[in-house]
Amino acid sequence: MDEAWQDREPVLTVGRVAATPAVWLAAIIVVSLFVGATLLCAPRAAVTAPILPGFLPALASLTVLADILTAYLLWGQARAGEEPALVVLAATYAGTAVLVAVNAWLFPATFLVSAGHAGETAAWAWIFSHVLFALGAASYGLYPTSRRAPRAFMSSARRIVSVMVLLVVGAIVLAHSGHLPPLLGHGAFFRLPRLVLGLMPLVMAIAVAVLIARRRMRTVLDTWLLVAMVGMWCDAGLMRWGRGRFTLGWYGAHGVSLAASLTVLAACLFEVNWLYRRLVLREARMNTTNASLRAANNELATIAERDELTGLLNRRAVLGRLAESLAAWRQGGLAFSILMVDLDHFKVINDEAGHLGGDEVLAQVARRLRAAVRASDAVGRYGGEEFIVVLPGTSGDGARKAGLKLVEAVRSAPFCYAGRAMPVTVSVGGTCADEGDEGLDTLIARADRALYVAKRDGRDRQAWMDASGAEDMCACG
Ligand code: GH3
Ligand code: MG
Ligand code: MG
Repeated sequence: MDEAWQDREPVLTVGRVAATPAVWLAAIIVVSLFVGATLLCAPRAAVTAPILPGFLPALASLTVLADILTAYLLWGQARAGEEPALVVLAATYAGTAVLVAVNAWLFPATFLVSAGHAGETAAWAWIFSHVLFALGAASYGLYPTSRRAPRAFMSSARRIVSVMVLLVVGAIVLAHSGHLPPLLGHGAFFRLPRLVLGLMPLVMAIAVAVLIARRRMRTVLDTWLLVAMVGMWCDAGLMRWGRGRFTLGWYGAHGVSLAASLTVLAACLFEVNWLYRRLVLREARMNTTNASLRAANNELATIAERDELTGLLNRRAVLGRLAESLAAWRQGGLAFSILMVDLDHFKVINDEAGHLGGDEVLAQVARRLRAAVRASDAVGRYGGEEFIVVLPGTSGDGARKAGLKLVEAVRSAPFCYAGRAMPVTVSVGGTCADEGDEGLDTLIARADRALYVAKRDGRDRQAWMDASGAEDMCACG
């Protein structure tokens, strides 16, 4: 199974789509918008703005939804490409979604009228969600991008998800434990200890540096993750300058935070859609190629079993049909006969009409022979001017009639070459398959002997030989 995995074509996931200058340009524009909005907002960040009660629930819900969708898409891509690095990112988005949900749910006056201590948990959940995102992005940057065999991938994925669950649960327990310094109070939203305020942007700066150093914006995902990271950085900065709830900085921070969450989601959706379109196009191209390959194969198979001059089955193909009839008959199938046909005095035709004329006569005789028997009978060129006809399910009188029809079909009208009429006749030697026949050679040799009898007795006729070697007596049926 592992070896089969090695041979497979690498899957192109969002983690592997190379970034183009257009992607970089779009990323620079979005980063400029984030930074521009932050710088514009910064001097007035602490200014109190009108209270919009539905703002935080709406923003938080959208952020949670965006993060869950991003995690879902990344997890699907990680599984498709067996890339543990994408699992790191998927787990990061899922973990962030949980912490943002905790933050929004427990915040005073968001859903709960009075949150009490839960408000502190909410504020710390906000800090942890940002730190976790930065740590997750940095870990993704440090994680090797190599693919793993399916089993190795699943065990890495389980490890990564377990670590993330531990981190998120640990962060919530710690936030709720009451052992952390209080962050809320006296109308101010945050009284963040200097340490925390300084650490958060620092962790984010490290994540940005790691992403730039390790990934160098090579892929679309690397580029947009970096943009999201910068957005979160702006978010943390605005939150710090805004100090309280419903200040311009607070509104701006949440807006930038949502935009940052949406960037990777939008990039994933865009790329997954393109991957899908590429897949459909590739499949359509493959179907066309397969159809032309099948047609070419059929043509080759036909060419491989045809005789070039007469268009009949060639020696190998007609002997194949003969072998099939013999095998079927031995397994209780239908009795069958074979006819060996040889042109009479063909040397004379060659001498009179030249070899090209002889060829033309051979081709015309072949057409008459083919037309004289059933479609289910096999007619092939055995040698120079010798043909074999296999008559499956035909023996006794029926086979003799078929032989006569061949003789008469050739004799019935002269052949034409270069405006000259050339009377041509054939001799036919026939025999029926017999239980004692050891193989094809026995049958062919008997038909050949019958042909010799037809030639000996004057040509332009048929002769039959049974298995005992008796001439002109066919007792099978
Ligand atoms: P018979 O009635 O005894 O069969 O006389 P024949 O002249 O037909 O017999 P023979 O076997 O002596 O000669 C067959 C000739 O068929 C000899 C050969 O040059 C000619 N021949 C074999 N293959 C071809 C071919 O593909 N094209 C042409 N033009 N002649 C061929
Ligand atoms: Mg001949
Ligand atoms: Mg011959």
